[in-house]
Amino acid sequence: MRTIYLDNNATTAVDPEVREALWPYLTEYYGNASSMHEFGGALRHRIEEARGQAAALLGCEAGEVIFTSGGTESDNTAIRGVLAAQPRKRHLITTRVEHPAVLSACRQMQREGYRLTELGVDGSGRLDLEELRGALTDETALVSVMWANNETGVLFPIEEIGSMARSRGALVHTDAVQAAGKLAIDLARLPVDLLSVSGHKLHAPKGVGLLYVRRGTRVQPLMLGGHQEFGRRAGTENVAGIAALGKACELSRRRLVEETARVGRLRDRLEEGLLRDCLDARVNGDRSARLANTTNISFEYVEGEAILLMLDRLGVCASSGSACTSGSLEPSHVLRAMGVPFTAVHGSIRFSLSRFTTEEEIDFVIGEMPGIIGRLREISMFRPERDATGEGPRERRPGLSAPRR
Ligand code: PLP
Repeated sequence: MRTIYLDNNATTAVDPEVREALWPYLTEYYGNASSMHEFGGALRHRIEEARGQAAALLGCEAGEVIFTSGGTESDNTAIRGVLAAQPRKRHLITTRVEHPAVLSACRQMQREGYRLTELGVDGSGRLDLEELRGALTDETALVSVMWANNETGVLFPIEEIGSMARSRGALVHTDAVQAAGKLAIDLARLPVDLLSVSGHKLHAPKGVGLLYVRRGTRVQPLMLGGHQEFGRRAGTENVAGIAALGKACELSRRRLVEETARVGRLRDRLEEGLLRDCLDARVNGDRSARLANTTNISFEYVEGEAILLMLDRLGVCASSGSACTSGSLEPSHVLRAMGVPFTAVHGSIRFSLSRFTTEEEIDFVIGEMPGIIGRLREISMFRPERDATGEGPRERRPGLSAPRR
C-alpha cells in the first residue's frame, strides 16, 4: 500500500539530493574533521561550505551558525546559555504554546530560581503584544518566542516582538524549527539574537540542527569538551548530518518561493474540501498569518485518535497534535491555550504538507474523510442532535460533560 505522508511538521522525507550529499561522509570520507592529517582535515571544508549554505538561507554570517544535534539542543542551548551568561538578570518570557523543547527548558529555569512569564494567546493562537510589553522589565534576560507553531502553523510577529524586547534590553530567541525553509528569513535585518533550526523538518536527516547566535551575543555552551564549533558546542562534528543540512538549506533557499506557493495551494484545496464535505469541521488558528503547509482542523464530536487510525489503514499519515506529545492522552496544550472547546480539541487533526505532496494525494484524503467522520459520528458518545434536514448540530445531549482522563 502506498503511503500518503501528511505529517511533515513531525518530520520530513530526506530529499534525494540531500541523501546524495551526505552519503560520501558515511562511506569514503569517514575522517575526523579536527585531525591534523589531510584525510580528516579535508572534511573541515565541507563543514564550512555547509555553514555558508545555512547562512545564505538565514541571511546571516557563516560565523554566526553553530551546528547542533537538532532543534531541542538548539533551544536548550539558547535558553540556558543566555541565562548563564547574564547572571544578574533573573527573568525570562516565553509563551504557553511553545514546543516542549522550549517550554520544559524555561520551566526548568523557573525551578532553578528564575522568574518566568508565560504569555497567553487568543482563540486564534495570536499573542497580545501589550501583554508582552507589560511583562518586560529591566530584569528580563531573554524573550523566547516561536516563529511558527508546530501544531497550528500560526505565525508570531517576530519582528515586532524582537523590537519590543530589545527596547528593554532583553535578548531575543526564536524557535524557527517550523519556519526555516518555509518562510523567508533575513537575520541581517531582524531584531533576533538567537534562532533554532532542525534538519529533519526541512528534508535533512534527524539528529542535526543549528543555532544562530548573533555576533557578540554571550552564550555559555551546553556541551563542554573539545573546541569544535568555535568552542561553543563541543563534540566531534556530525559531518554527514552537517553536509546534509547544508544541502537542505541550499535547496530550501532555491525553491522557497515556488514551493511555498504550490504547497499553499494544495493546503487550501485540502482545507476547503474538508470544510465543505465534513459536517462540524472548523480550522484552529489564525488563517491569515499561518505557514503555507499546515492546517489544523477539528472534527467535532469524534476522537482524533480514531480518525488517525482509520486514515492509517488507508496509508494516510497525519497527526492529532505534536508528534512529541502524542503517545500521551493529554489533549494538546496549544489548543487548550487557545481555548478551543473540549469536543473540538479531541477531534483535532493536523495535516502538514511538503514539497513531495501531490494533488492526487490531497484529493484522495478529501474523498475519504467525509466517510470516516460520518462512520465515527455514528458511534460517537458525543454525537450532536441534528434537525430533520441533517443540517444540525441543533443541540448537544443534555448532561454531556468532559470525561475524566
Ligand atoms: N521546536 C519545534 C517548534 C518543533 O516542532 C520541534 C520538533 O517537533 C522541535 C523544536 C524539536 O526539534 P528536534 O526534533 O530537532 O529536537
